[in-house]
Amino acid sequence: SKNGPLVAVRGLSVAYGSRTVLENIDLDVGPCEIVTLIGPNGAGKTTLVKSVLGLVQPSSGTITLRPGLTVGYMPQRLQVERTLPLTVRRFLTLWQKVGRADLEKVLVEVGAAHVIDSAVQTLSGGELQRVLLARALLRRPDILVLDEPVQAVDVHGQIELFNLIAEIRRTRGCGVLLVSHDLHLVMARTDTVVCVNRHICCSGRPEDVSRHPEYLAMFGRHAE
Ligand code: ATP
Repeated sequence: SKNGPLVAVRGLSVAYGSRTVLENIDLDVGPCEIVTLIGPNGAGKTTLVKSVLGLVQPSSGTITLRPGLTVGYMPQRLQVERTLPLTVRRFLTLWQKVGRADLEKVLVEVGAAHVIDSAVQTLSGGELQRVLLARALLRRPDILVLDEPVQAVDVHGQIELFNLIAEIRRTRGCGVLLVSHDLHLVMARTDTVVCVNRHICCSGRPEDVSRHPEYLAMFGRHAE
């Protein structure tokens, strides 16, 4: 239904070979909701995201997507040194037909209009992430799936990017599923936090999760 979740995950388990990396995961992303997955390295966050996208086969459980759902996916940081020497304009029009006006508009939306003719390899960490966000937005997604969108960005830039994501959610009314290492950076910019470490340790509003014993056990007292 129109008011049901965009994504509903129930009892999801995923194994690579004989190694179970996710166990009995339940997760909902509602319309216009920002859900942040946090957890230590190797906790299975990327695997969870890839399962939702249909890129990883679950060993059990179900993933239900709202019919007709369009996803805008921003994978973990692109290794620009391995890409072709393309301008941002070319990079964004290589895989999809985009009119000049739409391209300029989306780059303005993400604060990257000034790099339209720059080579992708010359962008700063923050500029590159904005261009990748623009690429995801060109699909007019109902949900944005962002895997560590602030990787290789300085702290000030990280705050700016999370503010931008929250602003895009507000103006476009899309859902957001994102991965982060740092609860405190996303604290004021997410509705729901889901703490993952193979299983779901705790979830809820960020201020509740930040005081949850399971969260504190995972991230230590310095996380307070
Ligand atoms: P990080 O924060 O380091 O990106 P993560 O929480 O996203 O980690 P995943 O990338 O989902 O975690 O990995 C979960 C576990 O599964 C890790 O131990 C990883 O080594 C393992 N893994 C990931 N992808 C594969 C794969 N294709 N084949 C085998 N093992 C994998």
